[in-house]
Amino acid sequence: MDDLAALADDDEHLHVVLIGPSPGESVLVGTPDGAWLVVDSMLGPTHPSQQDRHPVAEALRRLGAYPSLLALTHPHHDHASGLTDLINTYDDAPVGCVPVWIAPAGGMSSTAMLLKGDAEDARAAIERAWKDPVREWRLLADPSADRSLGTHGRVEVLSPSQQEADAAHAYPTPSFNAISAAMRVTWHDVELILGADLTTPGWQAVQGRRAPTTGDAAHMHKASHHGSDTGHHAWALGVAPPTHRPVGLTPYNVRVPNFAPGRDIDKLHDTIDELAMTAVPGYAGNPGPVQVASIRAARTATVGGVPAVGGRHLAFDAWWAWSLRPDGTVGTARHGSAANVVIR
Ligand SMILES: [Zn+2]
Ligand SMILES: [Zn+2]
Repeated sequence: MDDLAALADDDEHLHVVLIGPSPGESVLVGTPDGAWLVVDSMLGPTHPSQQDRHPVAEALRRLGAYPSLLALTHPHHDHASGLTDLINTYDDAPVGCVPVWIAPAGGMSSTAMLLKGDAEDARAAIERAWKDPVREWRLLADPSADRSLGTHGRVEVLSPSQQEADAAHAYPTPSFNAISAAMRVTWHDVELILGADLTTPGWQAVQGRRAPTTGDAAHMHKASHHGSDTGHHAWALGVAPPTHRPVGLTPYNVRVPNFAPGRDIDKLHDTIDELAMTAVPGYAGNPGPVQVASIRAARTATVGGVPAVGGRHLAFDAWWAWSLRPDGTVGTARHGSAANVVIR
């Protein structure tokens, strides 16, 4: 992650940093005038050298960054773990959350029982932060949720709507991914789509609200749901033929993404030439792009009869960082030693 320090001196580009050990995911977006959006957080994998280090806090330190906005897309542990520390450390930054998880003022939280461990800690920390109205950022697809990011940046929530959040939350065991807050960041001509873990029905709703605009216009996309089939949608991915636009994704575990023919990674390659994965098991330090066929051949486990690749990575090795010019073209793309480009 040492390379990240180089970005701190670059005041011309928009920076996008995707950290994704297996499991875990955080996205950092920084404008040249020093405003940073931090979406989700994770502690590193269980590794003795990492237990006393917070990967996202460490990345912010190396970037010389102070977050202007914090956000939790949904309370799954691979996104929520570690967020409490960030909320307490950067204690004046607004904190975004889909409001179904937060108790109304004077009310009781009906959702705490659904969550446990780090996810409940993060939810409770947001509830405390929201007692300060300046820190309350209700992540709903509504113009009232739009926020500025520096002088020229803007953050917009694409999903869920209030109605979608209420409907999904009404189930006894709601799908957290279905109420996962996808966002769009714009800066000059740059457009980024941050997919959170939104699943296909959620993207269909986004498409309905945003038509006729399409995700094709986006210069970059953080693939949803760790690259799994259930997160794919043409609105977010764009349409064939394959493009060179960067698409970043974080692996979840040995099952996701799936490298079997016709599944997750294969399908993404129908529209995206080069997938930037934050951790490509078995290929740490590989200098060039890795073919998906090589990953299949080198698979270290078979789960439920499908080819899968195991391995956990130190968060400090599992990252991509892109610098984007105001016209949306990529200035530089750097990655940690566990990360690589996956090609067909
Ligand atoms: Zn996830
Ligand atoms: Zn999730």
